[in-house]
Amino acid sequence: MPHPPTKDALLTDCRDSLNRLRADGQFRQCLPLTNGNEAIALLEGQPVVNFSSNNYLGLATDPRLKEAALQAIEQHGVGSSGSRLMVGSMPQTRDLEAAIAGWQGTESALFCNTGYQGNVAVLQALLNKTDWVFADRLNHASLMDGVRLAGAKLQRYRHLDLQDLADRLEKAPATVRKWVITESLFSMDGDIPDLPALVNLAESCNATVVVDEAHAVGYFGAHGAGLCAHTGVSDRVLVKLGTFSKALGGAGGYVAAPRVITETVINHARGFIFSTAMPPALPAAALAALAVIQTDPHPAEQLWENIRQARALLSDAPQGAGIQSPIIPIPIGDSGAALRISGELQQAGFLVRAIRPPTVPTGTARLRLSLMATHTPAQIRDVIRAIAYCQQRC
Ligand SMILES: *Cc1c(COP(=O)(O)O)cnc(C)c1O
Repeated sequence: MPHPPTKDALLTDCRDSLNRLRADGQFRQCLPLTNGNEAIALLEGQPVVNFSSNNYLGLATDPRLKEAALQAIEQHGVGSSGSRLMVGSMPQTRDLEAAIAGWQGTESALFCNTGYQGNVAVLQALLNKTDWVFADRLNHASLMDGVRLAGAKLQRYRHLDLQDLADRLEKAPATVRKWVITESLFSMDGDIPDLPALVNLAESCNATVVVDEAHAVGYFGAHGAGLCAHTGVSDRVLVKLGTFSKALGGAGGYVAAPRVITETVINHARGFIFSTAMPPALPAAALAALAVIQTDPHPAEQLWENIRQARALLSDAPQGAGIQSPIIPIPIGDSGAALRISGELQQAGFLVRAIRPPTVPTGTARLRLSLMATHTPAQIRDVIRAIAYCQQRC
């Protein structure tokens, strides 16, 4: 009889697995970072120009959002003391959900604790085991996890490849429910699907479209409503998902959809039912963020100005022409090289993350430059020069 595994054996297994990651240049850790919302952050106490934040519009430190959050804390305290179904919806959350529905042009909206949790919850609640789901191969982990949790049949089509999607849709039995799930702006490369063509295709195959706008809301489309609005397909996308944690400067996910959908989530989504509601400061800040993006065009204009500048500076580089968002990938390939360049940039005073497998496919490691409205022209010019210099050396 083999011995039952001991606790020591378990720890050894963990250690071995981490050592394999180290050997492959894939070991990750959370570095001590201060002021990570700002253009200048402190990494291990050293100032670095921060090109790794999703705070695209600079709203995370906006006085209007801070004031709204502080007021909510003064009025209602810090915690929320129970799940939404147990303790109800606070006024901030009710106002926010009405505002999200108005902004997204949907009948209803539901605020969730995080984008990740919301995505998993929504998909788990809506999908049946017999459904076929067609998902872009590079969709966010939360979208994949939701489909898996629901036990639906998952078909991953090639990234942005509508021909591959069409071929797969065609092969699905006519009688099954079909869903097409995509991000509107992909978080690692800042690239964008052809949404009108995707929606046309889905409709022609009787498939329902779900779009995750996590990285696109705040600065695309009228009032920053995102790429569905910007490309004119908003009304034809049944479920629009998003988060307040990126350009909107706060935290919390949302689903914008017809009321039967949000009511289905409330009644069937375990991630919604069994988690304590978001504390009132966050929906209050989210509501303030929606007010800012709908009334003050300045942060979005500044962000687009910075994107134009980066695009002009990179016009000779292969990725230059493709830049259409604040997420700028610099392809490197090898994980070790990406890590070395990122390390050299850090020494030179720039925080630029290396994105490595398993976040992206093996052999496609890259640097991911994330622009903010609060970067100065000099900071953008300097980081692009520094990257070119380090790329030649590494
Ligand atoms: C960041 C992200 C999420 C998760 O949102 P959080 O609010 O950070 O949990 C979901 N989907 C996509 C596409 C994302 O980029």
